[in-house]
This record gives sequence, structure tokens and C-alpha cells, in this order.
Amino acid sequence: MSLLPFGSLPAHKPRRFVPAAVDLGDWSQLAPLFDRLETASPRCASVPELERWLVDWSELGAALDEESSRRYIAMTCHTDDADAEKSYLQFVEKIEPELKPRQFKLEKLFMAHPLRTKLPSPRYDVFIRDVQNHVELFREENVALETEEAKLTQQYQKLSGSLTVQFRGEEKTLVQMGKFLEEPDRALRQEAWELVAKRRLQEREKFEEQFDQLLALRERIAANAGFGNYRDYTFRRMGRFDYTPKHCFDFHDAVEREVLPAVRELQARRRKQLGLDALKPWDLSVDPLNQPALKPFEKVEDMVARSQRIFDNLDDELAAGFRQMQDLKLLDLANRKGKAPGGYQSTLNESRMPFIFMNAVGQQRDVETILHEAGHAFHALATRDDDLLAYRSAPIEFCEVASMSMELLGNEFIEQFYSAADSIRARRTHLEGIIGVLGWIATVDAFQQWIYTTPGHTSADRAVAWNKLMDRFGGDVDWRGHEQARSHLWHRQLHIFIHPFYYIEYGIAQLGALQVWANSKRDKAGALRDYKTALALGGSRPLPELFAAAGCKFQFDAATIRPLMELARTELEKLQAESK
Ligand SMILES: [Zn+2]
Repeated sequence: MSLLPFGSLPAHKPRRFVPAAVDLGDWSQLAPLFDRLETASPRCASVPELERWLVDWSELGAALDEESSRRYIAMTCHTDDADAEKSYLQFVEKIEPELKPRQFKLEKLFMAHPLRTKLPSPRYDVFIRDVQNHVELFREENVALETEEAKLTQQYQKLSGSLTVQFRGEEKTLVQMGKFLEEPDRALRQEAWELVAKRRLQEREKFEEQFDQLLALRERIAANAGFGNYRDYTFRRMGRFDYTPKHCFDFHDAVEREVLPAVRELQARRRKQLGLDALKPWDLSVDPLNQPALKPFEKVEDMVARSQRIFDNLDDELAAGFRQMQDLKLLDLANRKGKAPGGYQSTLNESRMPFIFMNAVGQQRDVETILHEAGHAFHALATRDDDLLAYRSAPIEFCEVASMSMELLGNEFIEQFYSAADSIRARRTHLEGIIGVLGWIATVDAFQQWIYTTPGHTSADRAVAWNKLMDRFGGDVDWRGHEQARSHLWHRQLHIFIHPFYYIEYGIAQLGALQVWANSKRDKAGALRDYKTALALGGSRPLPELFAAAGCKFQFDAATIRPLMELARTELEKLQAESK
């Protein structure tokens, strides 16, 4: 029995280079394919031949990528199946380490090819730019350091994931404790919050130590690659060609100036509604009117049917895409025992079809997630016809525009899930969430900018720097009596440990999504047309052009944020008035 919810999928195109019967989990069968590409490269005597070679390379890459995705999906759908886990780990441990040097060899061959400069522009510009960047940054001596870094990040995950507390006679993970912050009983919320904060603080030395080791490694990696600091190295490694640290600082300033007033307003209202003198850290997630949680659906089939109706209302093409995903069983959405937590969208790169994984249990959050992941899926469907694998995905800053826009556009039809009154509540919660998270994004990004450009700092300096940012972006929350927890709050943000500098992307993308939404308020059809045009470009154009195609500016300054915040606030006021 297959562990995948879907069977064999219709191939987008018959294979031309990869043999039909190849075992993609057997390196001895894969190595000859890389040999063939290596010998074929210098023999490409014309531009069309070199292009064909690139497509063969893409075909192999896509087949391997899909193999890895299939194993990952099988494992996350059946965490209790030892074979599924073994099969995934076999690919990660046996195939991927072999692939990396061979891929790198092909990249070098491509960059050195005499006809490379004759490839038509702008078609190959982004591809060449990215390959060149990768080749230039590669350092043999960094391979071992990166392995060491990966091991350290695993230790962070292990420590973080292993923490539990005893709460009312039961052992609970810290994630499980999260839901108690939504309890109307304030004393219970406080107890739950303090228990978690205390548990984390017990490990603070370990977290600090782990981070110091990571920091030292990262500084060495950057120095090996010839950079003065890890920040500048990472900007290059992440392919941030279209914005600089200066743009990120503009974003921080703009959030402080344009977003924080809205955050404070929302906090003040929450405080009043809860009847409190001051908001404590455990007062931020509970419904301020003590209403029971929203109930958008009972059964997952119902969630799918209602989501389908939202897409039917939005656009025929997107609706057909979502229907096709149902027909091909490319959705595994119900929470059940033996499934990994969370939700994700994964693209099966050879069949060029998206798959969505979720753990829906009937909460408003599930509705936001299905709309979000469907946005990613529409992105994958829109790029199907590009034969260059690298162009079938976009930079993360734009991928999240695809998904976050779909949350906002889909929310316009949220009545498919709710009564009129509950629809208002769902829209408000969503918008307040967007406004609320921008300050946290600025905090996390500014903190990392400081960390990697302040050599020789101590862990006490880090706490001071973090607290300054909390003062700046945290709004009006009363932390008195919990200063220690506040100083080390960043320990829970796994990106800082595991994916350094990866966070501002969410802010950049949210500004794009808000612009798509603003456009759709003026011209629904036009905004959707631009959205789809931009999605279809995949990764073939630089970020500013992807944003422009979607009808957005690629800017994160106050002038861009101001009208978006005005729109969000007007919309919230409208919803507030309607709910009376
Ligand atoms: Zn996403």
C-alpha cells in the first residue's frame, strides 16, 4: 500500500533524459546521469543545444526533487511508520550529500561554457545571476563548517522541542501550552504563561551557549568567503540583489512610525474590553470580549467544499486548479494520529503539481491556513509550463505574496464559512494579526542586524540590545516582574538559531499582499489579473519586476506603508461599526 494520499500523477511531459525505470533512491544509478551531463556540456556547439542541455539538467533535478518530496510527504503523513522515516532519511543521508558536489560541478561547467554569454537576455539573466552567485560564494573549507552548523541547529531544535511542564497534573509540551493563553480565565492564563517562561529560563544558559557557538561558526564561514561580516555574506548568499540592509532599516523605521500607533490603539482597545489597567504578556491572545472560539466547519470535507466556493467566487482558473487538486487527491488536510504537526505546501516538481498538508481541526486558523497554502499551490500551478526548474519557483519574498494575498482576497468571501457577525470577527482577527506581526518582524530583523555587525559582544550586551528593540516595537505591554523572560524572549524564535536573517521576507511579502488587496478594493478583476500574471512569471524575473507585475511597489519605506495602514485601520473601523 502506498503511504501517499495520491497515486501516480499524470506526467507533465514524458521524460527525455532520465530513464523511465531509474531508481531515484539508488546513487549508483544516478551518478551516470551526472556523468552524462558533464560530458555533454562541452559538446554543446550552439545556443539551442546548450538550452537543451539546461532542460535535461532541469529534468533530472525535478525528478530528484519530486522523489525527495514524495518521501517527505509519506513520512509526515505517517510519522508512526518506521519505513517511511527510513526512506526519507536514506535520501537525505545517502543521496543529497552526493548530489551537492555534482550539482556544483554542473554549475561551474555552465558558467565556464563559451556559449553561456550568448544565451538570450532577459530569459536567462536571473538564472545566470543566481548560478554565478552560488559558484562565487562556494568555499570548500565551508562545507565542514556548514555541517557543524547544521548539527548545532539540530541541538537547538532538540532542546527546544524536549521542554515540557507539569500543568494541572499533566505533562505538556510548550506548544500544547499555547492554547491556554486563549482561556478567558485570567489566573489560569497567567499560571500557564509563567510556567512556560520559567521553563525556558531554566535553559537560558544553554540557549545562549548554543547561540554563541553558532555565531562563531557563522563568522568564520563569512570570513572564509571573503566578507567582513556574516550579515553581508548572508545577504549575498540569500540572493538579496534587490535590497540592502539600508532598506531593512527603512522598514524598521516605517514600522515604528506607521504601524506602532495602530498596534497601540488595538492594545488600548483590548485593555479596555478586558477591563484591565495594563496588558500583561498573557493577555494578548485571548478574545477581548470573552467570546467562544469561532467554529468555521465541523468536517474537513466541509472546509474543502467551502474553500472551493470561495475560489469559485474569485476566479474560474484558480477554482479549476483547486478542483483538480481534489480530484488527484493532492490534499491531506485532516488532523489525525500519526501526522506531523503544522501545515505546508510542497510541489511535486516532475509532475509539476502542488500538494497541501494540514492538520485542520475546525478553527479559524485552519481557514487562514488553507487559503494561504492554496495561494502557494496556485503559484506552482501557474508556473507549470516553464521547462527551467529554477524558474518554477520564485524567491520567498514573492512566494509569500502569492499566499498572503490569497488570505486577504479569500477573506472577502469568508461568509462561505460564517454568519454575518462571525465573518466580521474573522476578518478583524485576521487584519489585527497582520498589524500585530509587523512589529515582531522588525524586532527579529533588527536584532539579527545588530548581532552580526557587533563583533565581540557578550550575552549581556545581547539582552540590552534585545530589550531596546522590545521598547521600540513591543507596544504597551507591562512586563514588570518578568524582566528576565523579556530579555530572553528571542530564544523561542527558531529562525534566529536555524535560519539566520530569514524573517524580513514575511514583512516584505505582507506589504506586497496588502497592496494586492488595496488594488482589489479599487479594481477586483484587474488586481486578480495582475496577481495571476505575476504568479505565472515564477522565478524568471528579479523581485522588483515580480512585484510590479502584481501591481505592487517593491518598497518598504514609510511612504509605502502609510496608505496600507490607513486602509487596514479604515477597514477595522468599518468592521467595528458593523459589529455594533
Ligand atoms: Zn507560506
